[in-house]
Amino acid sequence: MPHFPINSNSSLITNAFESQLKTSLHWRKSTAEERIARLKKIGAWIKDHQKEIRKALWQDFKKPEAEVDLSEIFPVTSEINHAVKNLQSWMKAKSVSTPLPMIGTTGKIHYEPKGRVLILAPWNFPFNLTVGPLISAIAAGCTAIIKPSEMSLHTSALISDMIKELFDPSEVAVFLGDVEVASNLLELPFDHIFFTGSPAVGKIVMKAASAHLTSVTLELGGKSPVIVDHSADLDDAAAKIIWSKFVNCGQTCIAPDYLLVPEDKLEEFLMRAKVYLQKFYDPAFKGIEKSPDYARIINSKHHKRLNSYLTEALEKGAKLEFGGNTNESTCYLEPTLISNISEDMTIFQEEIFGPILPILTYRNLNEAIELVNSKPKPLALYFFGNNSTHSKKVLTETSSGNMVVNDCVLHFLHNDLPFGGVNNSGIGKAHGYYGFLAFSNEKGILKQRVGYNNVTLLRPPYGMKTKQII
Ligand code: NAD
Repeated sequence: MPHFPINSNSSLITNAFESQLKTSLHWRKSTAEERIARLKKIGAWIKDHQKEIRKALWQDFKKPEAEVDLSEIFPVTSEINHAVKNLQSWMKAKSVSTPLPMIGTTGKIHYEPKGRVLILAPWNFPFNLTVGPLISAIAAGCTAIIKPSEMSLHTSALISDMIKELFDPSEVAVFLGDVEVASNLLELPFDHIFFTGSPAVGKIVMKAASAHLTSVTLELGGKSPVIVDHSADLDDAAAKIIWSKFVNCGQTCIAPDYLLVPEDKLEEFLMRAKVYLQKFYDPAFKGIEKSPDYARIINSKHHKRLNSYLTEALEKGAKLEFGGNTNESTCYLEPTLISNISEDMTIFQEEIFGPILPILTYRNLNEAIELVNSKPKPLALYFFGNNSTHSKKVLTETSSGNMVVNDCVLHFLHNDLPFGGVNNSGIGKAHGYYGFLAFSNEKGILKQRVGYNNVTLLRPPYGMKTKQII
């Protein structure tokens, strides 16, 4: 267990928050160069501490080194590089065109840092999802208080060390702890809260934010469906779905949660999916538990939760197609495929957030769309197929935070796409320019000429004057 510095009592939190006021007023005027210098020092620290980051994630849930590089380090360094390259143009006030009634004026949008922000992070990509939002906050010119997850202790402690080394607490501060610390933080009148976590806690955060009318970005979860169309290349789909589902041991907010496969394609899909499971995680037939490329469940509470979902589904008639083996002492849960799913199974109602993939079948696309629409709007929706009419039908007849065609989860790494959910899966968008916007107040500025006023002719006595403009 890492040593947790006792830095999280409420007076220390209040002191840090108060000390950030002066900095945030100063940073409001900061130039792109100054912000870029802050971003670059985070980038340099990450470059110098890759080994430590990999070690912490291994200690937290045996996350394979390659997955740390790809899904924890790369997304953050990529965000930094993208912001460094584009910040000057993001920050530049944007001119807008002048509508006829406003002739004589000029209009611009100025991007003002929101000020003091709070970042509450989850455990599943603990480095990426804590430092990633910080990059957007720094790019936007904000100070930040961060609370990483209490479940990924080693990575959270490392993030705390990183921030202490790079920033004064009056600029960026980390408070380690659980719900109590989060609750203390949520009492403060931050200028923005960026929360990543479950919809249930998202509601608590939004309620707390409402006391101060603090704006929020809520990056939540949910059940992201995959529709495999009749026109899909099943081998391509199987390979991509299997990797996306089981990377990070299925503990990914945008992991495929359930699959919808045409009834007459189920057998072929399953056959190909099993081939890829074997190829990826057990090429030498030694057992997946020995694979160096497969992570573990974060803790025994989640291991128990997942086992109970699986046990209940099997009791209610689900068919075990692959996997199902577990080892409670090491939080191991084999990649598992199940079919014959019914609506009354918890696994079909709750976000799974683990390595169990339920596969449902459908007869026509309308049926699949109806099923997706019967559930809260998901964070992502995946469509596999070569029929563009079907793909467009799914796009226009469903709602989700993001949609990916012929792949899964990849959109997270696209810096120019807004990332986030809709309603139950989230509010607001993140990444690149959209992350910068989340932490900025888009201030509209209207400049008028002295001695001229567009409504001069419309001043009282009004008479019939206003009738001429409508
Ligand atoms: P969580 O909601 O339990 O916790 C997230 C953060 O909130 C943690 O820092 C935790 O300490 C804090 N927290 C927990 N209970 C709280 C309370 N009552 N009051 C205030 N703060 C509280 O989520 P988690 O288990 O860490 O992560 C899993 C969830 O996050 C899943 O639903 C997943 O889909 C979602 N998620 C979403 C994204 C995204 O980008 N949209 C990314 C990763 C995870």
